[in-house]
Amino acid sequence: MGEKIEAVDPATGEKVRSFEVATDLQVEKAFSKSRGAFDCWKDLSIDKRCEYLERLRKIIVERKDELVETIRLDTGKPDVEALMSDVFATLSMIRYYEENAENILETEKRKTPSEYPKNSSYVDYIPMGVVAVISPWNYPFQLSVVPSITALVAGNTVILKPSEITPITGEKIMELFSKAGFPEGVFQVLQGGGRVGQQMIEEKPDKIFFTGGVETGKKVMENASKYLIPVELELGGNDAMIVFEEADLERAVKGAVYGSLANAGQLCVSIERIYVQNSIEEEFTRELIEEVKKIDIGTGRDVEMGPMILEKQIETVKDHVNDALEKGADLLTEIKKEGSFLHPIILNNVSHDMKMIKEETFGPTIPIVPFESEDEAVELANATSYGLNASVWTDDISKAKEIVSRLETGNCYINDVVKNIGSPHLPFGGVKNSGIGRYHGPEGLKSFTETRSVMINKNKGTELNWFPYDNDLYVDIGDLIEAKHGDVGLLKKVKTFFRLWRKM
Ligand code: NAP
Repeated sequence: MGEKIEAVDPATGEKVRSFEVATDLQVEKAFSKSRGAFDCWKDLSIDKRCEYLERLRKIIVERKDELVETIRLDTGKPDVEALMSDVFATLSMIRYYEENAENILETEKRKTPSEYPKNSSYVDYIPMGVVAVISPWNYPFQLSVVPSITALVAGNTVILKPSEITPITGEKIMELFSKAGFPEGVFQVLQGGGRVGQQMIEEKPDKIFFTGGVETGKKVMENASKYLIPVELELGGNDAMIVFEEADLERAVKGAVYGSLANAGQLCVSIERIYVQNSIEEEFTRELIEEVKKIDIGTGRDVEMGPMILEKQIETVKDHVNDALEKGADLLTEIKKEGSFLHPIILNNVSHDMKMIKEETFGPTIPIVPFESEDEAVELANATSYGLNASVWTDDISKAKEIVSRLETGNCYINDVVKNIGSPHLPFGGVKNSGIGRYHGPEGLKSFTETRSVMINKNKGTELNWFPYDNDLYVDIGDLIEAKHGDVGLLKKVKTFFRLWRKM
């Protein structure tokens, strides 16, 4: 009997099904199949690849409710959360590639320096090979399918390892890709935990796209370094929300509640720290407490917060809350846990020596910290090892932009939270411990390709820079340096170029 993983419904704790874990041999076979499939897939036109994407999109639209049920079984998240953030966000990305991939990846003509007369230059974006996608459990559909389709549209083949916490969604993803008719071996799913992820790296994929925690990300990078495999890391966040006194208070409060509690806080771009200007802190906190009372907890269509997906996460939340209370924080709500459902926890008098502020809590906690000045707000927001997303709230957009320019973060939202990650046009990724690389947008699509630079020389005969080296060539290069990069007059420049062009 092979190794198994159990799919457990986080809302009830009941085992739903068990799945066979991929053996080392199956991992090896999947890679050899993927390499075989790459030979044909890479030669398809982007237009042709997009036809597969279009079919996938239509199947997802048709089966959206079934997908929501699948994601609910794996994660317990509210139906709206699954439909909006897993299904809708994925569809937007597919549509974006259908409409833009061809343009983004088309051959680009580039300028050629004047000392290369009769030359021209261009850049090609070429597929890399087999891409290993390793995804987390919190948005098991979006965070598996989006990197996979990005790799595929760029001409790569893909092997996906979903989290062992969400194997049902992993299986469903494979079913959808098969239904869409992707050729055998172009897209595959391997079920299993960290060991399977590690084994995939040993098979030397041509790129690894990893989404998950910082510690695992470091291990992935370390293992990949043995074979110099390019790695893209989408890691955790500790996102700050900065609320200035002139902000629309009611909107900021509602934004804070949504940004902190969406997916019960198990969201990489969740608001983890709220900095509120002194003059409005009391009112903001009072209204926040009232707003949080409106949150319904449970599963299904008309609830806002589902269960914690992982028992380990409940322990982290407890640890961070206890640490904050021991160090003097005030609890403004009661701590309530029903099964795997945690109620929102609001705290103030929190400080930067507390785990809740320093680290990623990944749960329904809302710590509030007052600040006096713009400088202090920026300093506090940057006082973390993470840099994924942030938000700045004020009616003064110039001031907001100035603040944003000083924030150490890969992404930022002015007067809103979270949904900037859903724009297919914007590159997404973190700075500092939040990761390496970008996906989404043109930059993100190109990151799944190798750049090949090409020059064409239509010159006849010999070249100025070729052998033999002698004093004449030394003088010519010296003159060229003066003309190109020195402070010589226009006439001298033209004369030098005219003289040298004849030799080039
Ligand atoms: P995780 O524990 O780091 O796991 C991520 C993936 O890596 C899972 O598929 C996991 O498998 C696999 N894995 C574990 N050990 C491995 C190894 N040695 N080699 C290769 N793969 C290995 O993260 P998580 O708990 O699932 O996700 C939560 C974290 O992801 C949070 O920190 C969150 O902020 C971050 N996240 C970031 C983004 C972003 O876009 N920046 C988005 C979502 C989440 P198993 O799960 O099967 O063990």
